[in-house]
Amino acid sequence: METDYLVVGAGASGLAFADALIAGADVEVTLVDRRPAVGGHWRDAYPFVRLHTPSAYYGVDSIPLGEDRLDVEGFYERASGPELHRYFDAVAAQLDASGRVRLLTGHDHLGVEAGVHLVRDRRTGIDQRIAVRRKVVDARYLEASVPATHSPTFDVAPGAPLIGIHKLPDVVRPGAVYSVIGAGKTAVDACTWLLGHDVAPDHIRWIRPRDAWFHDRREFQPLDQVGATMAGIALDAEAAAQAGDLDDLLGRLEDGGRLLRIDPSAPASMYRAAMLSGAELEALREIDHVVRLGRVRRIEADRVLLERGQVAAGTSVIHVDCTARGLNDAPAQPIFQPCRVVLQQVRHNSPTFNAALIGHLEARGGTDADNNRLCPPNPYPRSILDWPRMCATTWRAERGWAADRELSAWVAGTRLNLLAAVRDRAAGPPVREAVARFVAHVGAAVEHLDRMQPPPSEGGDR
Ligand SMILES: Cc1cc2nc3c(=O)[nH]c(=O)nc-3n(C[C@H](O)[C@H](O)[C@H](O)COP(=O)(O)OP(=O)(O)OC[C@H]3O[C@@H](n4cnc5c(N)ncnc54)[C@H](O)[C@@H]3O)c2cc1C
Repeated sequence: METDYLVVGAGASGLAFADALIAGADVEVTLVDRRPAVGGHWRDAYPFVRLHTPSAYYGVDSIPLGEDRLDVEGFYERASGPELHRYFDAVAAQLDASGRVRLLTGHDHLGVEAGVHLVRDRRTGIDQRIAVRRKVVDARYLEASVPATHSPTFDVAPGAPLIGIHKLPDVVRPGAVYSVIGAGKTAVDACTWLLGHDVAPDHIRWIRPRDAWFHDRREFQPLDQVGATMAGIALDAEAAAQAGDLDDLLGRLEDGGRLLRIDPSAPASMYRAAMLSGAELEALREIDHVVRLGRVRRIEADRVLLERGQVAAGTSVIHVDCTARGLNDAPAQPIFQPCRVVLQQVRHNSPTFNAALIGHLEARGGTDADNNRLCPPNPYPRSILDWPRMCATTWRAERGWAADRELSAWVAGTRLNLLAAVRDRAAGPPVREAVARFVAHVGAAVEHLDRMQPPPSEGGDR
């Protein structure tokens, strides 16, 4: 088999890349994924999972996701797991119908031998050899680790009642006490689900190795609410330009509502750019029993051993493992390489926008050096110490896009751009003022943030 591009990984990133690539270039693409259907980790997610960002700017460029409805809190709708499955099925059908994309789901990419790629059909065990005329695209470099595919890093004694989050709906029962282990978005989802299913806050014990910083969902809204989003980004730039040091910066961001802590009295260090609404935050703050004794080392039938102590666990306690890493912390490497593209983040918090951006640039041509200048890799944040690097990299990249007429037209036009509506609403006072405030501060902000780069951040433990 021959192909122009071999995309390894048909998760949201591989799909968004391929969709943008064939929109701009007459090429033949083969997507390989070991899962039986496209969509990546969303296919194995827990039953009550939802996007934490609006559907309006998620997925592939050429197919809208959702209908831009507002939810009960007045925010743009977020797709549920089943909605995402249906969406990815539609994406697969459209790619297939293009006649230029071959989908090899249920296939493992085994490696390369003498320049030829080897893939194996997981059902039949039959191998195929694929010669690549142009480039191999690594769309699994940032493969997500989700509860269904992860094993806990702590010991579990035989008989200790530990479940993954996907089992929660099966085990919930009157009188049970739930011990939720983890500090990130999955743990938040477990606690929110329990509270929403009539479990009293005093029946939840939350084991948080570290406390985390979150964003307010209100400030990541597209379309008609983009004014608030732009105002928040302007506040980020102003705070970064004026802050004396990192502590001062974090204080300004928290005072301005850009960063949130569930418990403002507890120091927080973890930061995975997850979002909460005001209502979720209020509900989570009702959980008083928080265990801060470090990471879990071992779970036994009647107790939990942690780094800095232990807590008892009665027979009614069900431990819920929410420690899967989620976002992949792989280090940065050049995105455009000879005969190879490695999909990574460029603008923070925008995985499918970034994959499509890279696909668009690949279709447009240009040298790897020029494309790498436009797409500096920007690894997912693990700790709040990564905030300066993350924002400085984004703002520097955006400066490059603005200076490139063709690219800035693409960025302004793609539905995957959270800020796409800024152009149409720029005449309105809130957006105009926010853009002016951002422009006034971003230059100094990038310089200050460069000076605030911390030593390598501590591990992304949850
Ligand atoms: C729980 C969770 C919630 C999230 N919510 C949001 C959100 O609301 N908004 C947002 O913007 N982002 C969100 N993200 C970020 C998310 O990671 C991206 O949005 C996106 O789904 C990641 O897609 P991906 O294609 O990079 O990775 P994956 O979905 O992990 O896909 C990688 C694929 O590569 C395949 N693969 C790996 N190795 C091989 C091999 N050797 N052979 C064949 N196939 C292989 C895997 O089977 C997998 O399907 C969330 C992440 C998690 C974990």
